[in-house]
Amino acid sequence: MESGRRVEGRIVVPGSKSITNRALVCAALADGTSRVDGALAGDDAEAMIAGLTTLGHRLERRDGTLTITPARPAAGERVIEARASGTTMRFLIAVSALSTGPTVLDGTARMRQRPVGPLVSALRTLEADVEYMGEEGVPPVVVRGPVRGRRTPVDATLSSQFVTALMLIGPCLPKGLTLDLVGSPASRPYLVTTAEVMEAFGATVQVGETTIVVGPGGYRATAFTVEPDASAAVYPWVGAAMTAGVVTVADLPGTSSQADMGVLRVLEKMGAMVDWGDEVTVHGPKGGLRGADADLASCPDGAVALAVAAAAARGTSRFTGLGTLRLKETDRLAALETELTKVGATVTCGPDSIEVVPGPLHGATVATYDDHRMAMSFALLGLVVPGIRIAEPGCVSKTWPGFWTALDEATAKLPVIAIDGPAGTGKTTVATAVAEALDGTRLDTGAFYRAATLLALRSGIDPEDGDAIAARLGEVTISYDQGSIDIDGVDVSSEIRSPAVNAAVSAVSAHPAVRSHLVNRQREWVTSARGVVVVEGRDIGTVVFPDAACKIYLDASPEVRAQRRALEDGTDPREELARLAGRDEVDSTRDASPLRPAVDAWILDTSTLTIDEVVQQVVTHYRSGSG
Ligand code: C5P
Repeated sequence: MESGRRVEGRIVVPGSKSITNRALVCAALADGTSRVDGALAGDDAEAMIAGLTTLGHRLERRDGTLTITPARPAAGERVIEARASGTTMRFLIAVSALSTGPTVLDGTARMRQRPVGPLVSALRTLEADVEYMGEEGVPPVVVRGPVRGRRTPVDATLSSQFVTALMLIGPCLPKGLTLDLVGSPASRPYLVTTAEVMEAFGATVQVGETTIVVGPGGYRATAFTVEPDASAAVYPWVGAAMTAGVVTVADLPGTSSQADMGVLRVLEKMGAMVDWGDEVTVHGPKGGLRGADADLASCPDGAVALAVAAAAARGTSRFTGLGTLRLKETDRLAALETELTKVGATVTCGPDSIEVVPGPLHGATVATYDDHRMAMSFALLGLVVPGIRIAEPGCVSKTWPGFWTALDEATAKLPVIAIDGPAGTGKTTVATAVAEALDGTRLDTGAFYRAATLLALRSGIDPEDGDAIAARLGEVTISYDQGSIDIDGVDVSSEIRSPAVNAAVSAVSAHPAVRSHLVNRQREWVTSARGVVVVEGRDIGTVVFPDAACKIYLDASPEVRAQRRALEDGTDPREELARLAGRDEVDSTRDASPLRPAVDAWILDTSTLTIDEVVQQVVTHYRSGSG
């Protein structure tokens, strides 16, 4: 993936998977032909369409509209292949129990590990004959109906889908169905969504704290429009929040009952601003997100993206209420722990919780476990961390087949000009003039290393003790604005140019722990800036922004550089030559991000050029887009 990008604009996301699959079931059980617009065109909806077709119903898709004509299920054996779709498996076990069958329901290897026990128990209470064909508690199952009775307890703690499945068949029972919820239901908002879809098809439903009452009378055929998927909207929202972007998801109102709307509250806690209008807009904070503690029981799908965002935030995050994540497409808590650790965060998982301590993040190939949410969440990390590769990206087709194109279209590359080179090549003068010519801003990354050095010297920390300096950096705020740099709000722009700092800065900046801390701050700064940003340093084109649009490496002979420094500072050229040679040697031979031109950098020797000539050439090079 290409890093250094910001999420912006208005994005159309697919129809809600949860609503699509609920609406298709209601339509198939209705009294005539229904139309469903805006339905998800993804694997999970395809699995449901195939399953309902196996039951005898007719479903046709034309230009984004599905037409559903119900049929009375014929007796006789049939086999429903739910593939990897949990809603299809759970909902159609219940629907199959309406007819004599027998109906066999099976799915992928992972589906054969995902529980259906509480649903099967409730259906047995309602006198359906449901048998496990393999292991107890999991598919495949064979279902023989019809169900009888009007009331059953149901354990809702493992998945709200068991309750939804039973609610969906309620209107088709002669006396309706009353469900007594045992334990606190996982992801309760999903039950409200179920009730809303059922009501749109003419059913009557009351969702109480511990009891759900579904009235009899069947479903009315209707024309139904599926809301955009809040679980998909999470990715642009979180992406904008992580990249200081501004994004609006089309046609999804702030009042939606979808469970993952809860993600927005957490983003607010992490520092994002949310406009709760007819279409929700998220504004990412300048300077990046901060860590937060939150109970995510009501928005478990969005939890994956939030955990990934937490890895790139400032400060620790603790998310709880996540027991259901262990039973999804994969054990998502385990998958998050493995993959976030791989990219540099420190993660501790409990049975239903995850704690994420952001670390210096780095590129890696992220495994996706055939889980669309893992792929889409880590894609967002790839926008800010260079070198993130997503293994098997095709798994997004479960709920958002067009995700990669949409992400591409919704992200703008940060207009970064990386200027690297040794001391005395005129980087600062050139960067300042180029920024001015392009009406942009300049970031002097050397100032960060100098500030860290000053901080170490003032705190009495040995410049060789990288861990101690990095720890001290974690305790202060370094801010940079228009060439000035502050430590905890105090301007240190002059002190960082002192001979003592000059002498120690190369040693301090050789420590990987110091570098990763400061590189994160530099990326945040650039991500938050508007317009072209000219970033000067030693490792900008190689490490900080390896995907920068334009990379320049300024060079000049050591004698010319020493001469320039001596003129500037009124010092002796020979002494300057020795000092520069010493600094160059340390900077270019250190292990961590040594000074060297990026392979795709344009190397410009300034020995015989005037400043104006250099500026002119850089601006022309940037404008020609040949960076
Ligand atoms: O650019 P300036 O001379 O102010 O940088 C001071 C020192 O900071 C450099 O000699 C180098 O050791 C370090 N530095 C770095 N990486 C950067 C910028 C500066 O290591 N991106």
